[in-house]
Amino acid sequence: MTRELDVVVVGAGFAGLYALHKLRGLGLAVHAFEAANDVGGVWHWNRYPGARCDVESLQYSYSFDDPLQQEWVWSERYAQQDEILAYLHHVADRFALRPLIAFGKRVTSAHFDPAADRWHVHTDRGGEVTARFCIMASGSLSASRLPDVPGIETFAGQILHTGAWPRDGVDFAGKSVAVIGTGSSGVQAIPQIARSAERLVVLQRTPNFVVPARNQPLSGEKQAAWKAAYADYRAQARQVGTLYDFSQTPALSVSAEAREAEYRRRWELGGVNFVHAFSDIMTDPAANQTAADFVHARIRELVTDPKTAEMLCPRGYPLGAKRICVGSDYYETYNQPHVMLIDLQATPVTAISGDAIHMADAVLPVDVIVCATGYDALTGALAQIDIRGRHGAALSAKWADGPRNYLGLMVADFPNMFIVTGPGSPSVLVNMVVGIEQHIDWIAECIQHLTRTGASRIEPEPDAENAWVQQVNEAAAETLFVQANSWYLGANIPGKPRVFMPFVGGIGRYRAICDEVAASGYAGFQITSGD
Ligand code: FAD
Ligand code: NAP
Repeated sequence: MTRELDVVVVGAGFAGLYALHKLRGLGLAVHAFEAANDVGGVWHWNRYPGARCDVESLQYSYSFDDPLQQEWVWSERYAQQDEILAYLHHVADRFALRPLIAFGKRVTSAHFDPAADRWHVHTDRGGEVTARFCIMASGSLSASRLPDVPGIETFAGQILHTGAWPRDGVDFAGKSVAVIGTGSSGVQAIPQIARSAERLVVLQRTPNFVVPARNQPLSGEKQAAWKAAYADYRAQARQVGTLYDFSQTPALSVSAEAREAEYRRRWELGGVNFVHAFSDIMTDPAANQTAADFVHARIRELVTDPKTAEMLCPRGYPLGAKRICVGSDYYETYNQPHVMLIDLQATPVTAISGDAIHMADAVLPVDVIVCATGYDALTGALAQIDIRGRHGAALSAKWADGPRNYLGLMVADFPNMFIVTGPGSPSVLVNMVVGIEQHIDWIAECIQHLTRTGASRIEPEPDAENAWVQQVNEAAAETLFVQANSWYLGANIPGKPRVFMPFVGGIGRYRAICDEVAASGYAGFQITSGD
């Protein structure tokens, strides 16, 4: 690998791959480090049964190259993990990106040298590169978390995390399996594991709202029609993220019958579209309750044992305030005699031993434990790198009370370092491929601007950073998002500051702000030529 680079990229998922392609196209010397042994990011790591996107495949894909989007054929409404991974492998090969990536190397430190205006980047496998710019494309959902249960390390059976699934798969036949966690990953995996396991126990701490996916094969006609209008669809997506059917009608402005009919229509169509049935579901608690009531009624219809149905009904937080889950046969799975649900709020796990999970009032012998326990989201991958800025101070120290940055993109005192889809940006609240392309395009334009003007350094002004943090907080406070103990707020990680991290104002508004900042000559940033 070249030691002196223009740009070093951390990560080779959707974000890292596009960054490499875009920046090399500008004539820059760019290389990436990737901890995994291949490209794909989330789709390399998450090989658990049932893993698939919940943004429709035709939208959950790059828009930057028309021949790519015209030629690639998706087989299902929501592509399965292996198909998305094959797509990302195709992208890496098609655009000859692999030679730009050092695989199996985890970046451990990134230190800024103010004398030279360069980042010094080290990995766990030695070597050092220096680069004018550092792009953290390390993922918002890439730092997986096992539960903190005493004795977990003593378990003699197989213990798995959905986000680090074995490449060769797992055979559950004849096994007694426990799944801990009922977020999006658990909801996708549980019905699939139930198909082959002899016995499946689901350990649920908080029930989630699960809408049906209604996944189906993607017809040639639909695909052709969509591709014919791709330019228009992609332009719309740049404003809204995913092309949902966004209602402009408040929920309580229509009769109860009309409301029920609309929820039912969307339930039958499947997918996240359900949350957009009325305009005020995420802002008015009464409106939100109507949607929650509808889902509760469906759960009671679908689950035959009334006690299990009540355990599955989410209560105490608004629908959508935790990421809504999209499932296939999720609730129906609990009707199978070999599947059991345990409410951890009633009977917490106290320990794990060599062959069992110990509850307050029972011992549960198991062969395999599947942890669908989520991630240290948005900041976790960055926290694992020793990132030091202009004065040698650590990013982790600066963010001790919660992430602070300007536009989600850059951090004061950490010049020339860009973060992709991190805190302070729309990030995980929108179709992430749309967010990634917006970020990389903005970063590329910024680097070009600096090169054109002969500047060597860019970083946010502290006032601009403070104002942006305030804007992100204010936008969240106007919504119901802040009323749930979600990973958006860091609530799943003991001790993590409780700050709503993503910018909730929408990708269209965010894009306009970023474009305006660039057009104004990077208002809010200090651009200099070294100390
Ligand atoms: P990632 O795909 O996470 O890639 C980051 C890469 O950086 C990883 O390969 C990691 O190994 C590497 N890395 C991290 N730290 C280091 C380091 N220190 N050194 C070297 N390498 C490092 N989003 C949607 O919009 N729609 C969906 O349907 C959807 N489904 C999802 C399903 C699952 C199971 C998960 C977990 C997430 C899903 N997401 C979805 C969110 C997903 O995170 C993004 O869509 C997208 O894949 C993120 O791409 P990325 O390149 O930013 O990050
Ligand atoms: P998650 O949403 O954070 O869910 C983790 C689950 O584990 C929650 O039910 C959580 O309970 C539980 N849990 C965590 N720690 C626990 C502990 N110590 N003991 C018991 N239970 C514990 O993680 P995820 O399901 O992996 O999903 C993360 C995000 O990735 C999603 O929200 C989504 O954005 C994305 N994703 C998308 C898809 C898709 O459909 N395309 C699929 C998977 C993931 P609490 O709620 O009580 O914390």
